[in-house]
Amino acid sequence: MNIAFIGLGNMGAPMARNLLKAGHSLNLFDLNQAVLAELAALGGTVSASPRDAAQGAALVITMLPAAAHVRSVWLGEDGVLAGIAAGTPAVDCSTIDPQTAREVAAAAARQGVAMADAPVSGGTGGAAAGTLTFMVGATAELFATLQPVLAQMGRNIVHCGDVGTGQIAKICNNLLLGISMVGVSEAMALGDALGIDTQVLAGIINSSTGRCWSSDTYNPWPGVIETAPASRGYTGGFGADLMLKDLGLATEAARQARQPVVLGAVAQQLYQAMSLRGEGGKDFSAIVNSYRKPQ
Ligand code: NAD
Repeated sequence: MNIAFIGLGNMGAPMARNLLKAGHSLNLFDLNQAVLAELAALGGTVSASPRDAAQGAALVITMLPAAAHVRSVWLGEDGVLAGIAAGTPAVDCSTIDPQTAREVAAAAARQGVAMADAPVSGGTGGAAAGTLTFMVGATAELFATLQPVLAQMGRNIVHCGDVGTGQIAKICNNLLLGISMVGVSEAMALGDALGIDTQVLAGIINSSTGRCWSSDTYNPWPGVIETAPASRGYTGGFGADLMLKDLGLATEAARQARQPVVLGAVAQQLYQAMSLRGEGGKDFSAIVNSYRKPQ
């Protein structure tokens, strides 16, 4: 299939590589020339704009940082909707607010284009391994069309409901993740300060009622989980600034819904302070350093 893939960053590039491996031909667009050159060497075709990429494509996929980028790539003068043919399925995999997802999909629908939101979880490792979870907001018909292609980049392809519901699932999950990482950080730092071996403490938590992903898979204390970013200086993984963005999406959506998110708002402030300290590029589990003396 000829697929337009726009937004080839930490997530988009490995996703596009998996589609190339699966035998698709790709029209590629990004602002970063280096990544375009790298993917062109693997067989992709470089396009001059989102509009150019969408022309002649049988499917359009975007993976961009935030809502402003999604609006400009889809709705701009040289955007996807200026080039896409009516009847072409389309999907945005960025994490953005549900409202923008619905507005862009409505603009697409006015041109006869069915568009889905399908944010992902699984991180850069999952993108490379093709094991992402896709949370898809789409009609049943569009979901059925997208499912086989998304399955070439992911393992769990979940139909959440109509357009926008993929984003709702994603921001609720990340709200909880942001909070649980702060909770594990507090518990680990308190245990350390009171004098228990942090390996022993993590072992107890991970077989007791405090067990959660932030502790048993991604523990923020260095050395507890070999494969976690904490054990490699908080590099790679999921940047604190991206977590801050997602908590902002959750608290803003909550404000609009008049729904309290007390712990989410506190967690947001903690990641905001971390970003102010110049640590927004570190993995979000480095939030544990807010509870430790400078190392
Ligand atoms: P990134 O910043 O690494 O990549 C974004 C890419 O979009 C860059 O290559 C950039 O050049 C390109 N871009 C920006 N504006 C553009 C434009 N106008 N036209 C074309 N290309 C443009 O971000 P990422 O880590 O790949 O994340 C992408 C999305 O996935 C975000 O919404 C993020 O929240 C979400 N996400 C990220 C992770 C993760 O672990 N990194 C995990 C799950 C979800």
